[in-house]
Amino acid sequence: AITVIGSINMDLVTESDQFPNKGETILGQSFSMIPGGKGANQAVAASKLGADVNLIGCVGTDAFSQTLSDHFKSQGINTNYIEEISDQPTGTAAITIAENDNHIIAVPGANYSVTPELVEKYEDVIAASETIILQFEIPIASVEKAIEIAHRHEVRVILNPAPIQPISRSVMEKVDYITPNEHELTLLLDDEEKKSFYEQNLEKFIVTHGSKGVLYYKEGEEHLVPAFSVDVVDTTGAGDSFNGALAVALTNGETLEESLRFGNAVGALSVSKLGAQTGMPILSEVRRFLED
Ligand code: ADP
Repeated sequence: AITVIGSINMDLVTESDQFPNKGETILGQSFSMIPGGKGANQAVAASKLGADVNLIGCVGTDAFSQTLSDHFKSQGINTNYIEEISDQPTGTAAITIAENDNHIIAVPGANYSVTPELVEKYEDVIAASETIILQFEIPIASVEKAIEIAHRHEVRVILNPAPIQPISRSVMEKVDYITPNEHELTLLLDDEEKKSFYEQNLEKFIVTHGSKGVLYYKEGEEHLVPAFSVDVVDTTGAGDSFNGALAVALTNGETLEESLRFGNAVGALSVSKLGAQTGMPILSEVRRFLED
């Protein structure tokens, strides 16, 4: 199985013609509630591609928690390790889209209740997995705990360092693959010590470059796996689709090169459709796309 330990959010999306000024109330055009959070998105990506997926995370006891749990079940995800926290709201992102731009206020809420102790409680689930996927929308100490447990049990670890946070070098050494986008890579290398870690561990890094594709290193040499060319509709969740897909292909025993090509195909298909989770392809779509 693939186990994702990460964030679960409900995105509250309002569209309007313009942004309100401070203190002003205006009428909007549309409102929708869309499941999100990088952890949940990557779990959905992997599950849609046919993997056996566990999601470890926390929601509140509010109206969103049941909706989200039903949603994950409908996507075939094991929800037994999602905990309900009574004194915290489910994580939300209030997104306003106007004037071809957006404003976002994210409230982590219950996602910060994914503590190191909670991660420890699920040591057996992690140990029984082939791959775990982590991001930085839960406390860093919990990400570090999960990496330590997985490493001890020889479970493959994919760390998608988004949104970027400082993490200890000794923990990073235990990660198999670190998957920043180009912007996150720049922030990851903001001092000499981090640069030296990068230079000494190039083969851990898989750097996504949007429509260009993905860079990886083999025997010290940089290689590009080019992206597929598609008509772009919505790039939200491209990175999440890519990470879920990479985990699935590696877990299925494909080589790194094959896995990156598969990740690029899934990323390309996801940007050609609207929405993060809704735009993610199922396995048969990816196979058809790769055959064409
Ligand atoms: P993020 O969403 O984290 O910013 P990227 O933009 O680097 O990540 O996209 C992740 C992956 O999704 C890319 O490596 C590529 O495989 C795919 N992808 C993203 N944008 C496009 C695009 N415009 N055309 C084709 N593939 C894309």
